[in-house]
Amino acid sequence: MTKTRRSFFSWTRNLMAAGGVASIAPAAEAAVPATDYYAKLGVTNIINAAGTYTALTASTMPPQVRAAVDLAATSPVRLAELQQKSGEYIASRLKCEAAMVTAGASSALTLGTAACMTLGNRAAVIQLPLDTANLKNEVIVQRGHRYGYDHAIRNCGTRFVEVETLEQYEAAFTPKTVMCHFFNAAEHGQISREDWVRVAHAHGVPCFNDAAADVPPISNLWAYTQMGFDLVTFSGGKGIRGPQNAGLLLGRKDLIEAATWSNSPRDETVGRGMKVAKEQIVGMVAAIDWFLSQTDEGMQAEFRARAERIAARLKDIPGVNYEIFMPPLANAIPHLLIRYDQTKHRPPLEISALLRAGTPSIELNPATGRRSGSAGLPNAEDAIIVGVWMLQPGEDVIVANKLRAALLQAT
Ligand SMILES: *Cc1c(COP(=O)(O)O)cnc(C)c1O
Repeated sequence: MTKTRRSFFSWTRNLMAAGGVASIAPAAEAAVPATDYYAKLGVTNIINAAGTYTALTASTMPPQVRAAVDLAATSPVRLAELQQKSGEYIASRLKCEAAMVTAGASSALTLGTAACMTLGNRAAVIQLPLDTANLKNEVIVQRGHRYGYDHAIRNCGTRFVEVETLEQYEAAFTPKTVMCHFFNAAEHGQISREDWVRVAHAHGVPCFNDAAADVPPISNLWAYTQMGFDLVTFSGGKGIRGPQNAGLLLGRKDLIEAATWSNSPRDETVGRGMKVAKEQIVGMVAAIDWFLSQTDEGMQAEFRARAERIAARLKDIPGVNYEIFMPPLANAIPHLLIRYDQTKHRPPLEISALLRAGTPSIELNPATGRRSGSAGLPNAEDAIIVGVWMLQPGEDVIVANKLRAALLQAT
């Protein structure tokens, strides 16, 4: 027996002793103590009593999702196969034709727009964003739907055509119209979703709905594709509680395929920088499985109970009133609104600052003490708003005690 063959056989024997190929990687990775890099770097942990705000690192992943991410990190795979099979799985779970995991909803807006511009003309991918003179590049939008994420669409070299009335909408189509964009949680705009889709389709133009922050309810994940929108996006790191840098692009099979032409790992595309690693792709899939295992009633009851526990700790303070408020569409979960006599207690912005400076450091909803709340929250110039849904177990009690102390602190 040659040396090579002997070592091959002893290698196989060891392998069999280890229980087969599949068990090797996890065994080799067992039980490495984790370093707390927040502590090592001096980064402050916070209690998130605000909500799924990107600047506060949005949601945290449930244990099942974290475990799936961790396991996915132990083995390389072929990226194209993972992208394709995760897309098929998500599409079947979310009742749409096709799906892809993107680097967030903002990336989905860019890739979906690129798909509309290059459908049937794959060679044009390289022309985006600057060399678009011979491509369709007009996106119709309601004036009240212009928002901060416009730039994700403009990244493809498009320009917006604004409309207000249904008549204006019907008259806005030109041979250059490439897409009709809808902002699902917009607070202005008179044209309904149904009309938006119907008129676009009468002109053979695809319709995109940005519903990034609009779960729960869970059924929204299929409501808009089933309504006829050709493309729909949800953020992965908001209510679904996947990785913060993941999101979903859902919709028509031909458009999702065209979106992959502009996606990482393809160079010379608008999407090359929107790379989603295997861990985040798996994390997004696992988060969908987790989210679909929840019920709307269960989630709402839990969030309401947290809001009630915090309110119960405050309501004997003279002049303090509370209400549990549900925004209508985006972030449609119970928020605690605390109104009080501002001559007796510190104003809301001072309470926010006190909680932020405390230990542990707490972030209240950023609409606290502000006139115009984001995403369906009311005017809270004279109010504190607690977003309870991203609190970890037990944190509602800490928030309640800190709020009580801050309200009772002498002015
Ligand atoms: C949060 C949000 C986005 C961006 O989502 P990311 O996943 O952070 O990229 C886009 N559109 C709307 C309406 C949002 O609320």
